[in-house]
Amino acid sequence: MMDYIQTYRDRDSILALAHTLRSLASKLPAPLKIMEVCGGHTHTLMKYGLSKLLPPNIEFIHGPGCPVCIMPRGRIDEAYHIAMRPDVILLTLGDMIKVPGSNGSLQNARAQGADVRFVYSPIEVLKVAKDNPSKKIVFFAIGFETTTPMTAALIEQCLTLNLTNVYFHINHVLVPPPLELILAQSDCSINALIAPSHVSVISGAKIYAPLLERFKLPIVVSGFEPLDMMQSILSILKQAISRTPRLEIQYARVVDMQGNLKAQAMVERYFCPREHFEWRGLGDIPESALRLRDEFARYDAEIEFAPYLPKERKADHKACLCGEILKGNAKPMDCKVFGKACTPNNPIGSCMVSSEGACAAYYKYGALL
Ligand code: SF4
Repeated sequence: MMDYIQTYRDRDSILALAHTLRSLASKLPAPLKIMEVCGGHTHTLMKYGLSKLLPPNIEFIHGPGCPVCIMPRGRIDEAYHIAMRPDVILLTLGDMIKVPGSNGSLQNARAQGADVRFVYSPIEVLKVAKDNPSKKIVFFAIGFETTTPMTAALIEQCLTLNLTNVYFHINHVLVPPPLELILAQSDCSINALIAPSHVSVISGAKIYAPLLERFKLPIVVSGFEPLDMMQSILSILKQAISRTPRLEIQYARVVDMQGNLKAQAMVERYFCPREHFEWRGLGDIPESALRLRDEFARYDAEIEFAPYLPKERKADHKACLCGEILKGNAKPMDCKVFGKACTPNNPIGSCMVSSEGACAAYYKYGALL
């Protein structure tokens, strides 16, 4: 069997592509500003020092594709207040537990006695619910198209097992709407996209077709290994030189245009578009997130705990530039407190908390810049 990891990290292949990119770049009609949408791609760029291999007329702009980074304070505050209820066990994934809200993070709630737990997989919620029948189990569900089917599968299991003590605080968001908003800004200088492949495994690359149609820019669905990214950059470069923007799938070993139809049907069964959802830095983007369908409202934590949800929230930390970074208007180094008051051990903003955040990537791999 082919060793995909080593093959796509092969140093000589990466350097050969870098050479090709440098020799072709002089033919570019204008500098290339590529938004790598996903934080995973930002980390690949930093970790392997790819930016250093590129010619100066190719620049990367970091995008809003990290579900922890884009979560606004209001949603974290809701989770915090729900978690502080004495009859609640709140469960969530990943770094979400560390993101500061108005009253502190979920980790702070735990320090004050709240029962907040971290799970590796949503399916672990079932065991906690069965083991604690007198408690209300709340799953703080986050993520893009990639993780939504797992939450849908969990809801299906709750129905099958007739579990009546599980609730969902749904924060599942969609990739295309924030990209459309960013690209439509009058001063937007982004002229190509590297799109996340894990999202497209579920949704198919077809979700980017309307962006190509409207903005006429190269879009390449890319894998996360360094050679994947170099191949994607080469494809974008060729498209820019020939002025023939296309939607291309570099990660064809897993992604196709249609995606996983079974997973899409499962998501469709339990979720529908949410009229409004606020994104950190980007504000309210209509129909950019999902909510539970009305017939599953009894599982909705926002309904069950409505009397306890905060009406107001404090503003984000004045120094924090996460919002501007997520819009592609700033880089972590532009933030005055980067690496000083704000570090992974003492994060001020979500982009430093999340292992996929741009600030965390710059902090971890900064020596390679
Ligand atoms: S370094 Fe910290 S405070 Fe500055 S933008 Fe990044 S997360 Fe926000």
